[in-house]
Order: sequence, then structure tokens, then C-alpha cells
Amino acid sequence: MSFQDDLRYVIEGLKSVETRNNREFMHELALGLMRMSQLHETLEARAAGLQRRVEELEEKLSRVGELVYREGAYWREGHEEPGPYCRACWESGRKLVQLVPRGPGGEELCPRCRAFRFGSPDLP
Ligand SMILES: [Zn+2]
Repeated sequence: MSFQDDLRYVIEGLKSVETRNNREFMHELALGLMRMSQLHETLEARAAGLQRRVEELEEKLSRVGELVYREGAYWREGHEEPGPYCRACWESGRKLVQLVPRGPGGEELCPRCRAFRFGSPDLP
């Protein structure tokens, strides 16, 4: 039984002990339980958001150990997408962004921050 089901059960139970003398109090009590139910839903949503954030951070943390810096970029040794990954994005915000080849020379560029793997290319 969920928390919401439990509250509905309690609210129903309150109706059975309602009398003419306590009717107003019982009504206020039921309203309080409904507010508690809404708060519970809000907190559940917040907890789910925090859980997702924890998983994101754990994923980022797990990358720290597997990343290797060489030849102007980061690499994930033994990973199915080994890289190269943007140095600037990783070092400034822990974003793992794969570099993509650009133009006929094949100079690799970050699609997020526009940094080149080996710095600015020599422009013609
Ligand atoms: Zn970048």
C-alpha cells in the first residue's frame, strides 16, 4: 500500500468516528491530511530529481578514473568510444564532449565550445 493509499484509508476511517460535535474538527483534520499528501508528492518528486543528479555525478566520477590526457585531448582507454574528448569542456565543467573532424584538413573541433584539439589552427 502506498503512502497515498494509507492517507485515503485514514481519511475514510475518520468519517466513521465523525459526530455532530466533532464534524468541523474532522473536516480540518482531513484537509490537513490532504495537504500532507500533496507535500509527500512534492518531496517524492524532489527525491527522484536528486537521485538522478547523484547518478549523473557518479557517472562523471567514474569517468575521472578512466580518462587519460595525451596528444591534446582526453581519451577513455578500452572504452567503446575512446575519444578524443575536449580538454576545455572536461577541465572547466566536467563535460565529456567528443571532438569531431572539421574541414578537409581534419582538424578536430569541439562542437560545444568550438575549441580545437591542438589550439587554434593556422588559418589560410
Ligand atoms: Zn569543448
